Amino acid sequence: MTVEARSGGVDAQGYLLARRLGELRDRLRRAIESPSPEARAAQGELRVVRLARMPVELWVVLGRESDYLVVPGTYCSCPHFMIHVLGMGQLEPCYHLVAVELARRTGRFHDLSETLLPEKLADIVLEIVAGARTVTLRRILYGFERSRQRE
Ligand SMILES: [Zn+2]
Repeated sequence: MTVEARSGGVDAQGYLLARRLGELRDRLRRAIESPSPEARAAQGELRVVRLARMPVELWVVLGRESDYLVVPGTYCSCPHFMIHVLGMGQLEPCYHLVAVELARRTGRFHDLSETLLPEKLADIVLEIVAGARTVTLRRILYGFERSRQRE
């Protein structure tokens, strides 16, 4: 394959990806008008956590069985996203993406983006990528919630 052919392929892929991302964001805007019960619950129960704002916004939605990493309007590490968004299924945003949008809109979420140490961030990401629930984040949130209740 020539370099030109390869870069042409990448351009075409990039174009397709950009188009699908635009479509996903349109659907997300519609979805937050009437969010699913799961999305409402995740946001209402404060299971939505902002980990970082730079260089990219990184959030976690703590699920009942698994936790997922979310880049707002762009990516979620859940199986639904893999199948319906990255795959060629219909572009239906998962409830994690919707819950993060709700959280950003209402301003109600746990925000660790100013206080989280880089090594803790790495631990949390690795625990979730490994397919586990993040013990590190739960420990941080638990301490956080207890100290807030004492005030
Ligand atoms: Zn998801």
